[in-house]
Amino acid sequence: MNGTRHPHWLVRKAYDEASIEKMESMLNSACLATVCQSAHCPNLGECFSRGTATFMILGTQCTRNCRFCTVDTGAPSQIDPLEPERIAETVKTLGLKFVVVTSVTRDDLPDGGAAQFAHTLEQVRIHCPGTKIEVLVPDFKGSLASLKTVLNARPDMFNHNIETVPRLYESVRPQAIYRRSLSVLAYATWYRVPVKSGLMLGLGETKKEVHRVLKDLKRVGCTHLTLGQYLAPSDHHFPIDRYVSPEEFQDWETIALEMGFKGVMSGPLVRSSYLAHTMA
Ligand code: SF4
Ligand code: SF4
Repeated sequence: MNGTRHPHWLVRKAYDEASIEKMESMLNSACLATVCQSAHCPNLGECFSRGTATFMILGTQCTRNCRFCTVDTGAPSQIDPLEPERIAETVKTLGLKFVVVTSVTRDDLPDGGAAQFAHTLEQVRIHCPGTKIEVLVPDFKGSLASLKTVLNARPDMFNHNIETVPRLYESVRPQAIYRRSLSVLAYATWYRVPVKSGLMLGLGETKKEVHRVLKDLKRVGCTHLTLGQYLAPSDHHFPIDRYVSPEEFQDWETIALEMGFKGVMSGPLVRSSYLAHTMA
């Protein structure tokens, strides 16, 4: 279905160019990356013009190559020890009361980059004492030591995306393991932190499979959920199987709330960090 026009509910309105450029220039001058830019998020105009972004630490080159993702794959960069402080200063300049920090997956690092997450939390707490922090982490290859490092830094929300149904893992995110991602979420619940996960719909999953994933997420203690439409970034990426209607997203929100999730955001343009402050 790549190359076809999106349905009207996926067409975004134009946002104020000047405030978007101001945000981009601030990020450039601080040498900071965002997943908003790297993942070509359709909400970039809205979020940047509101002065929010999801910071992406540990470089812009990922060591994995999920078939739905536009983040570059390649030789990873050196860890920048000053990156956490620059993020904290930028959060302060932007006056953010809630910030999301994510990273590329760094399978090359012994701790998967967990210490850099912890340092970033520490710096944001020093520079912006009232700001809440959500971490959107990779699976750290299931390393409990890495998860401990991040969780001991006391994030206000712990997020790890399950992304899709288990049947599609091999074709969509071959270096990930469904059960391992569930274990990551389960482990985080021991720290009494709200635990969030998200799925993309439209990759070829059935409704029965989505229902099963929601049950699995609930069973491991996940409290917050996001559901959004998968959009293929190019013809070289995994193709869209179908467009899920806004009404179906609304149905999933109702189902998830009835299952007992405390916070659910479900809609065509929902991404795991979209309006994250409203879910905290
Ligand atoms: Fe993209 Fe994350 Fe997959 Fe890397 S691990 S390719 S950043 S989705
Ligand atoms: Fe960035 Fe998240 Fe907004 Fe997308 S939804 S632009 S990733 S903050």
